[in-house]
Amino acid sequence: MVKISVTSKLDGIKSWSLQALDTCPGSIESPGVLVDACKGCYATTGNYRYPNVKAPREHNKTDWQRMDWVEDMVDALGDSRYFRWFDSGDIYSLGLAEKILEVMQRTPWVKHWLPTRMHKFPKFKLVLQTMAELDNVSVRFSSDSVTGEFISGLHGSVIVPSSDFETSATLCKAYENGGKCSGCRACWDKSIEIIAYPAHGLKMSKVIMLKKAN
Ligand code: SF4
Repeated sequence: MVKISVTSKLDGIKSWSLQALDTCPGSIESPGVLVDACKGCYATTGNYRYPNVKAPREHNKTDWQRMDWVEDMVDALGDSRYFRWFDSGDIYSLGLAEKILEVMQRTPWVKHWLPTRMHKFPKFKLVLQTMAELDNVSVRFSSDSVTGEFISGLHGSVIVPSSDFETSATLCKAYENGGKCSGCRACWDKSIEIIAYPAHGLKMSKVIMLKKAN
């Protein structure tokens, strides 16, 4: 059975996730060292440490390998207009990526947002490109930076140190709305090249402070 989460931050939009870091090969800069953005990852703190939040993510890691998983995901999406992949975790397996692509192709009425770091691995290039070419899919390649650097031309997202940070990217304004999207759907909008998320949480603040000190 697929385990779908409903995220209050996303106005109740459904999402499907895996456990952070365990399924994030793109989080590793060098053996034992995480990229800056993953050092402060929100999905390794707070509620994400509770067993009832971890359990569905761990379940999903084996569940996607079932023969009828794609069918079940299409059913679970129902008449949703928006869907978020990977509130935590990443498409660590090519087999999973190919199944997600099939779900996206079979649900053209749903706008899919999929953030990832798997573009670092050449074998994922074709499947990610095929997803990105679909009209209903916004694949966002996550920058490793926590200080606003991103690759221009790569449809993606980046963390910036604060909400008043000067950037040419489109700033996420969830902080103005109690941390909720409140009707904004910019992350799903293919025409918006880069979304900038102001850093939040103690863990990320420490990463940024250390970065600035070095
Ligand atoms: S940019 Fe908009 S859609 Fe994306 S997380 Fe922020 S508020 Fe939500």
